Amino acid sequence: MSPHSHRDVAGTPDGAPAWATATPKSRASERPPMTDVDGDASGEGPTDRILAGADREAMQAALTGWYREDHRAFPWRETTDPYEVLVSEVMSQQTQLERVVEAWEAFLDRWPTVADLADANRAEVVGFWTDHRLGYNNRARYLHEAAGQVQTEFDGEFPRDPETLEELMGVGPYTANAVASFAFNNGRAVVDTNVKRVLYRAFEGVRGADTGDSTPPYEAVASRLMPEGESRLWNNAIMELGGVVCQKTPRCDERGCPWRSRCHAYATGDFTAPDVPTQPEFEGSRRQFRGRAVRALGEHGPLALDELGPRVRVDYAPEGSSGREWLRGLLADLVDDGLVTLENDGGTLVARLQE
Ligand code: SF4
Repeated sequence: MSPHSHRDVAGTPDGAPAWATATPKSRASERPPMTDVDGDASGEGPTDRILAGADREAMQAALTGWYREDHRAFPWRETTDPYEVLVSEVMSQQTQLERVVEAWEAFLDRWPTVADLADANRAEVVGFWTDHRLGYNNRARYLHEAAGQVQTEFDGEFPRDPETLEELMGVGPYTANAVASFAFNNGRAVVDTNVKRVLYRAFEGVRGADTGDSTPPYEAVASRLMPEGESRLWNNAIMELGGVVCQKTPRCDERGCPWRSRCHAYATGDFTAPDVPTQPEFEGSRRQFRGRAVRALGEHGPLALDELGPRVRVDYAPEGSSGREWLRGLLADLVDDGLVTLENDGGTLVARLQE
C-alpha cells in the first residue's frame, strides 16, 4: 500500500516487493516509457486520440477541487521532508496503513533525521522493523543503506528528481517518483494499479487501446492529464480517487466522484478494468440506474422523463446518448418487471411507480 493511496504493489515471484529486489541497473530498465508523453507533433498520436474530446482543464479542476475539499488525513501528507516521505513510502508497501501510522511516528521519534538514521546501528533498525511487524526486513536494511548514501554521496541533501532518487538503495521508479512528487513537487504522473483503473474507466480510448496485443499508453495519458508543475497535488488526488472512490467496486455516487459527468464507465455502466475483468456486483451498472429511477419515483411521485433523467444520472442530456432514448430503454425494463408504468400525459411521457 502506498501511504498516499491504497496502492496495490506487485510482488516479485518470491513474494518480495519489486523495489526491494531491484538493482540500480534493473531499476533503470523499469522506468516507464516516456516517448509518447507529449503525443505526436501532428496532434494525432495515440495519446492525442485517446484524449480528444476530453476537457482536460475541466477534469483537472474537478479532481483537484474534490481532493482539496476532503481527503483522508495521514500524517505524511502534512510533511514535505523527503526523509519522512521516503520512510512512509518504504514502510507502507504491502503493510496496512493503520499500522504504518504508528510505526512511522515511532521511527521518526527514534531517528528524526536522515543523518540520525545513517548513524544508527543496522541491527537496531532491522529490530525496529521486526518489532513493528513491517515485514520484509530487507526494506529496513535498504532504507538504512539509502540514508548512508544521502549522507556520503549527496552531502546530506536528498536528490530532487526521480532519476537521481533511483540511485538510492531499494528505491525503485514508483518510490523515487513518490518522493520527488510529495517532497519536492517535482515528479512525473504516478501510474499504479489504482490510477490505471481510473484511466481505463474514465476514457473510452484507454479501454479501446487494450487490445491484447498492446496495452494502453497509461504513462502518456497520465502525464498529459497532470497539470504542469502540480505533481504533489495531482498524484495525491488521482491516487485518492482510485483508492477510495474508483475502487474495484466503484462508489461513483456514494462518494461523489468528480468525474461522473465525464466518465465513460459511468455513462455506459461498464465498470470492468484491467484488475476487474468481470463486471463488479453492485452500484454502477444498469442495475444501479434502475434502482435510482425507482428511488426517485418513490420520493417524488410521477415524473416526466426530463425530470426523472437528471435524478438517475448526472450526465443526463435529453438529446444525448445518455438522454431520453436511453431512459426509455431503462424504464421499459422496469415496466416489464412490473415496477413502473409509463403514461402519455398530453404528449409528455410520465413515469410512475406501479401501485
Ligand atoms: S465515475 Fe465511477 S467509474 Fe468513473 S472515474 Fe468516477 S468512480 Fe471511477
